[in-house]
Amino acid sequence: MKNKSKTQKKIFHFVSLFPEMVESYLNYSILKRAKEDEKIDFRFYNPRDFTEDRLRRIDKRPYGGGPGMVIEAMPVILAVKKALGKKDNKKVKIIWTSPRGKLFTNDIAKKLAKKYDEFIFISGRYEGIDERAKKILKAESYSIGDYVLTGGELPSMVMTDAISRQIDGVLGSDDSIEEKRLASGAVYTRPDTLKYAGKSHKVPKVLKNGNHKEIDKWRLDH
Ligand code: SAH
Repeated sequence: MKNKSKTQKKIFHFVSLFPEMVESYLNYSILKRAKEDEKIDFRFYNPRDFTEDRLRRIDKRPYGGGPGMVIEAMPVILAVKKALGKKDNKKVKIIWTSPRGKLFTNDIAKKLAKKYDEFIFISGRYEGIDERAKKILKAESYSIGDYVLTGGELPSMVMTDAISRQIDGVLGSDDSIEEKRLASGAVYTRPDTLKYAGKSHKVPKVLKNGNHKEIDKWRLDH
């Protein structure tokens, strides 16, 4: 059943050189359903649309030398301004994806989902974006883990996914109850006995006795 509670729709904006990448991921399963149910919505902005360069080039060589190219600040600033429109900035969180940012966690996802109505994710490519854009936009840096990726699109999708799950009505009502009770940990489904390579693999007994106290305890231990 659809959950039509009256919480305000949250909007995720993506500033990226490859918006189609992000869009394709968001168009499936739970996030797609949440969009159709008007719990969340997605908007896309390509910094290339905000340059006066005839060839839409927005990368330049880095000051101080070094390998690779750096994305100019201004097209990114203008793209974010477009996303902001005339809104009250206090309810909008601007997130700068960076391997040097603060580590993004589920706790942070929960807090952001509670506090903000809109999110603007800025994805770098190549060697990243001119750091001055971050300062001017008062964006906060987040990293999704201790590794370096080729772009900020995956991190933006990861954070959007984790934040969306925390928004009322995005998970089906059963899932949300489960989420509140206890994040499920290891999970099992039919068949009860899985035969593979001559061995029988059984579902843990405790999960089948209907005693939710015992089940919670087992899940905590696992
Ligand atoms: N030289 C840059 C790294 C560029 S990686 C630096 O030191 O910051 C290219 C882009 O990928 C970054 O601008 C960022 O948007 C994204 N990125 C790479 N790894 C990431 C991570 N672990 N978390 C979040 N974003 C990341």
